[in-house]
Amino acid sequence: MAPMIQQTTATASFTSRTQDSEFFKRARMQTNRSKTVLIVEDEQDVIDLLAVRLLKDTSYAISTATDGLSGLEKARTELPWIIILDLMLPKMSGLEVCKILKGDRVTREIPIIILSAKAAEADRLAGLELGADDYVTKPFSPREVVLRIKAIERRRSEKMEDEKLVCGLITLDPIRHHVDVAGKPVRLTTAEFKLLSLLLKKPGRVHSREMLLSGAWGYEAFINTRTVDTHIRRLRDKLGKAANTIETVRGFGYRLLADS
Ligand code: CA
Repeated sequence: MAPMIQQTTATASFTSRTQDSEFFKRARMQTNRSKTVLIVEDEQDVIDLLAVRLLKDTSYAISTATDGLSGLEKARTELPWIIILDLMLPKMSGLEVCKILKGDRVTREIPIIILSAKAAEADRLAGLELGADDYVTKPFSPREVVLRIKAIERRRSEKMEDEKLVCGLITLDPIRHHVDVAGKPVRLTTAEFKLLSLLLKKPGRVHSREMLLSGAWGYEAFINTRTVDTHIRRLRDKLGKAANTIETVRGFGYRLLADS
């Protein structure tokens, strides 16, 4: 019996690997995955393991590099959303890659998760000192990496929520609940403030009245979409010089002119 079980197991694992790699190829071709995770790792097995899990559990696209130098190059040209970086790499070490990326204004903000051997604690600490955002020790579970990525994603969106929104003459500070136009404070009602933040968060994008209504008042709001028009009109009056920043898209809604 024993040899047969062994054989079955071997076949099963081969089949699952083949399916995984088919899945990987198919998923990589999907174009609706807009944010990219760059995996810099010289062991193909580790890349496959991570890629398959990420494609199944997240909506990220995957990009890969198998040595430090090409990893650095891809990070600079593709500006990925997150980088998973092995430390022991051919051509250039992961630490060196991390140091260069974190020292460059263009790539500094890209979160880096370090993959390191359990024994190499000194390297791991060096990576964190160089600005890496988190680390995972090998051997690791791909699910753990997904959880780390999601935690980084959460911290990142919290940080973005706190950031000031600026468009043309308008500056909106979400923490202080304050708006100014050309440096002069403007007093807005809560609804006007919410409407303006919605527009400022996605400049250039057309927002329907329904989208603005549910975004500013919530879905259960017992008011008409025409109310949005009234509030936008008052908002424009208050914005003064920057009134034209809000453009009416006839029969649909509004948008913020990104280059005004
Ligand atoms: Ca390695």
